Amino acid sequence: MILSEALGSFRSVLDGLERVLITTHVNPDGDAVGSVLALRGILRSLGKQAEIVLDDEIPVKYRFLIDDPVYRVDDREFLDMVTDGGFEMAVYVDASEPERAGAVSQHLDEWMVDGAPVANIDHHISNTGFGDIVIVDGERASAAELVLDLSQFLGIELTPPVANQLFAAVLTDTGRFQFSNTSPESLQAAGSLVAAGAVPSLVTERIYFQRPAAFYQLLGSIFSDLEMHYDGRLCVMTMSIDQARQFFPTESVDTEGIVDFTVQIDGTDLGAFVRQMETGVYRVSLRSRGDVDVRAIAEAFGGGGHAKAAGCRIEGKVDEVKERVVAEIGRHLG
Ligand code: AMP
Ligand code: MN
Ligand code: MN
Repeated sequence: MILSEALGSFRSVLDGLERVLITTHVNPDGDAVGSVLALRGILRSLGKQAEIVLDDEIPVKYRFLIDDPVYRVDDREFLDMVTDGGFEMAVYVDASEPERAGAVSQHLDEWMVDGAPVANIDHHISNTGFGDIVIVDGERASAAELVLDLSQFLGIELTPPVANQLFAAVLTDTGRFQFSNTSPESLQAAGSLVAAGAVPSLVTERIYFQRPAAFYQLLGSIFSDLEMHYDGRLCVMTMSIDQARQFFPTESVDTEGIVDFTVQIDGTDLGAFVRQMETGVYRVSLRSRGDVDVRAIAEAFGGGGHAKAAGCRIEGKVDEVKERVVAEIGRHLG
């Protein structure tokens, strides 16, 4: 299905219904958060009852974007809403497969009317093409660009809050317009969002420049333990739970962006950030700035993502996990 056809079928399906459920992937990033919030605003401006339900909390640094409650799977208010009548359409945004939405996917059937259509708005090359309406373009830097396309297709005039939400999404998925995925479309999207009222300095300030001092102390500890492999072509950084607790005794740490430092070192082609999630469970984030496709490496461990940014979960002891990741990367280094 080409994109304009998919947008057309989204519109005609939407025309005949009222209640839309929106979700995104676990451990939501800026694109996930900004895109679901903006889509909700866009659908509401069409008079629809649109709600967002997520498996995880929205990270603190993105909460300034929230303009109305966002539900978790066990929220009473949300469950009451479901008993009033099921949702008539589900929209997954920035998720390559339904399972990426975690517990939301497991419960979805309970919340939807029978036969409710599923829409899939995403930009992962690894997207499985699931759903009845597939608005997927693996060439786009962010899912938000597709949400913007949809809003333009539907003829919606964006409000400043929605423009800020989409701007935050494009900003974060392009690494502040610095990653190689930054395309004319990303910059054009940013331009129209600013014209619609997005404020780049505010969004940047809130997301990037309000970290607690403890974050930089933790970063110092992670940096001092970094490892280089393959003559400096690979940098591996790790963070254990104990290490995180030393600096953040009571709260969980937002580590988004730490992996990007691994490929800011002269001579590195690839970087990995290995974060301990619980005993024996690690989340591995991978980045490439050369020709190596890190998605293929992540897929070897059951994960996925993009050519230049991918991730997976691996179980085992930290040294074994690192060894397996380093060995798999070695197989892909030319
Ligand atoms: P991250 O390293 O967490 O920033 O993730 C980079 C990219 O890889 C994102 O596009 C994610 O959607 C994707 N990704 C991360 N972890 C996984 C996973 N366990 N399974 C599939 N895709 C993932
Ligand atoms: Mn994402
Ligand atoms: Mn994305």
